[in-house]
Amino acid sequence: MEKRIYNFSAGPAILPEEVLLEAQKDLYTLPGVGMSILEISHRSKTFDAIFQNAKNGIRTLLNINDNYEILFLQGGATLQFSMVPLNLMPPKNKADYIITGVWAKKALKEAKRAGTVNIAGSTEAENFVRVPKQEELKLDPDASYVHFTSNNTIYGTEWKFEPEVGNIPLVCDMSSDFFSKKVDVNKYALIYAGAQKNVGPSGVVVVIIRKDMLERSSENLHTYLNYKIHAENDSLYNTPNTFGIYIIDLVTKWLIKNGGLDGMYKRNFEKADILYKAIDESDGFYKGTVHNNCRSLMNVTFRLPNEELEKKIIDEATKAGFSGLKGHRSVGGLRASIYNAFPKQGVEALVQFMKDFKARN
Ligand code: PMP
Repeated sequence: MEKRIYNFSAGPAILPEEVLLEAQKDLYTLPGVGMSILEISHRSKTFDAIFQNAKNGIRTLLNINDNYEILFLQGGATLQFSMVPLNLMPPKNKADYIITGVWAKKALKEAKRAGTVNIAGSTEAENFVRVPKQEELKLDPDASYVHFTSNNTIYGTEWKFEPEVGNIPLVCDMSSDFFSKKVDVNKYALIYAGAQKNVGPSGVVVVIIRKDMLERSSENLHTYLNYKIHAENDSLYNTPNTFGIYIIDLVTKWLIKNGGLDGMYKRNFEKADILYKAIDESDGFYKGTVHNNCRSLMNVTFRLPNEELEKKIIDEATKAGFSGLKGHRSVGGLRASIYNAFPKQGVEALVQFMKDFKARN
């Protein structure tokens, strides 16, 4: 088998090796079934067991009670940018959005098509180097919901607290830090997350929705866009991403075996700490791009003294087996995405490489 390299991609991203090896086996035949996981019906007993296990795994990991539905949808987090306002904005047709990066702006763009949007907070003027403080938020008490992005994949910032919104339903795009730590789901009316960072492959999105929110979905909505219909059909109104859901089942089992979300948080904190320390202790050669108190544990963004050196380090790192370190074009520099499945020794190897590069340059 070919050697695997260190994959720092922001998503689709690294998956646990155990999960990949298991999937490799089941790709030919599922034990006792005689068919590949890719070939079985979404209505079969075999798939139903996988599907229920995946949902139960999510319920167990996040301690989600029966008051919430878990849906597996398609169209990525991007379709949720539309589904959230189409379903949840009525009848008042007003919503609050907190703008902390490109993805939040894309969510905002779709919300504006559905009703009146109040920008309850924004750090765009500072090029998103931090998230707003609670006291900066200007919430509309009459909003149908408040939308925020818990981790800003491109900028490398994350909220260290949930915005306090009183009785207004809180909606979160958790795409890039879902499953990276425990969250209290009871604080949320709806959480959505594209799977391709911490949960599984691309092509499936996890939606956790409080049941009372389903009453807002109008019968006039197009069928696929209607949360209530997906909930009534247990995500099987149409053919779901069966392979994606199967991988989610394997990932939830891997997470439970490896200390659950508290265990993940501890490991994620340790990994990020090693990298941020190396940046801070480099005498200014490496510079973090965001405020220290908003630093993401998932996406570590930093710059070098000039763009020439940045290009050089990315080229050399790629040759040395560190893939995906180029920062997003809107920030430049480097971004190391170190999701759950990324090993600590990979972070240590990168830090050593960065020290050597600095000495050589
Ligand atoms: N939200 C966030 C925070 C993201 O990081 C991404 C993708 N990187 C998206 C939304 C868009 O997800 P998708 O491409 O699955 O639609």
